[in-house]
Amino acid sequence: MAGATMDKIVSLCKRRGFLFKGSELYGGLQGTWDYGPMGVELKNNVKRVWWSANVYERDDMEGLDSAILMNRKVLKYSGHEATFSDPMVDCRKCKKRFRADHMDAKEKCASGGQHDLTDPRPFNLMFKTTVGPVEDEENIAYLRPETAQGIFVNFKNVIDSTNRKLPFGIAQIGKAYRNEITPRNFIFRVREFEQMEIEYFVMPGTDEESHERWIEARVAWYHKYGIRPDNLRKYVVTGDELAHYSKATTDLMYRFFPEREEEDRQFEEVEGIANRTDFDLAGHTKGGKTRFTDGTFLTNEHAVKKQTYLDTKTNQHLIPYVIEPSGGVDRITLAFLMDSYEEQTLEGGKKRTVLHLHPDLSPVKVAVIPLARNKPDLVEMGKRIKRDLQAAGRLRSLFDDSGNIGKCYARQDEIGTPFCVTVDHQSLEDQQVTVRHRDSMAQDRIAVDSPDEYLQERLR
Ligand code: ATP
Repeated sequence: MAGATMDKIVSLCKRRGFLFKGSELYGGLQGTWDYGPMGVELKNNVKRVWWSANVYERDDMEGLDSAILMNRKVLKYSGHEATFSDPMVDCRKCKKRFRADHMDAKEKCASGGQHDLTDPRPFNLMFKTTVGPVEDEENIAYLRPETAQGIFVNFKNVIDSTNRKLPFGIAQIGKAYRNEITPRNFIFRVREFEQMEIEYFVMPGTDEESHERWIEARVAWYHKYGIRPDNLRKYVVTGDELAHYSKATTDLMYRFFPEREEEDRQFEEVEGIANRTDFDLAGHTKGGKTRFTDGTFLTNEHAVKKQTYLDTKTNQHLIPYVIEPSGGVDRITLAFLMDSYEEQTLEGGKKRTVLHLHPDLSPVKVAVIPLARNKPDLVEMGKRIKRDLQAAGRLRSLFDDSGNIGKCYARQDEIGTPFCVTVDHQSLEDQQVTVRHRDSMAQDRIAVDSPDEYLQERLR
């Protein structure tokens, strides 16, 4: 059965060039990872299929790419300056810092016995920097902790430039930064990551129905790209866990920790789908109000214009409600890696590791392999096929003569390449090549001049 623990994925990722520790050469930088040759392709494909499903295949969406550096006032009126923090504790004995709500009660102190912990205090997760040559209060800016705020502060710009009517949404993919107290679990919790977020604006009163529709649409997307239903759960967030801006949130939880004994603890959030009401637009508008849980609010004295929507039916200005599906690219990529991983024992006891990635996600679609790398005729023919595939421009292809045929197949299986095209001695005579299928390992013999057509048909 497919599926893997994170440890298996970490080792495959390093071995095959998906992910490397950030700044590894200089001892690393905690909470950062670099995507290698295979990783960048996989991650780009994840983003591509998300953008396709949520922007190109719908009539009610626009895209956006806003700046990572944000004016401090954006994060003031979003409520992040005051409230975007996690509870932090220090151990008086070993001097380590922990996130209070993520501590394992059984964890021992490095200085012996139990930790001697301080009371929890809030630690703001935003990365601060200064913009321009003068380092003072006036010039403080933040690296955005979520892409969402870039969408909210551009709501009016998008409406005015596209003439959109409710309901409609804005999608954005981009980097976000959080100074997590304890980054861990590979790319699950990092300090620099990417998000894929949608802010979907609706008439107040239609928000609950829209929320339900988005939850179903997002679940269907995961299933379509290969996440097994067993490994994805919906979790309705309630009570204290609900963020202050949210009327209702359903988290999609993936089985990131199959090794944990208790089944409920095996699942952690891969994406949150929140009904944010009018919280954000009501805060980011001239004279608007940012509401806090304790009943206090902040009046917006800095926004230079109103961000309201003119309902042409009633001729009234109103503040739309917002449904937000928000997923982390890195966590989603990790889920696809884990779910597609399988260690197989073949007939005769031989073992192979294979990533059964959906072909749209596979970093490489086809590898062309000469049966013998010391035979110039075979190599030349293989390179020509690879060049032809490349010229057709639709399939990421690779010429692989890095080892014997078995080694090449093993490498391609481990990076999830759906097809290998092998050129053998017979090919020189009959102008045919062998196509090997990743999942079934079945082999077809096809004409040299038609691999592009043959593969396209099977990748559809
Ligand atoms: P968590 O409770 O796990 O810290 P969150 O509820 O703070 O997550 P959101 O603010 O809802 O997360 O962010 C939306 C998505 O962004 C998450 O579902 C997750 O996929 C991703 N994400 C958030 N924080 C991180 C992080 N530190 N590293 C990687 N991905 C993250």
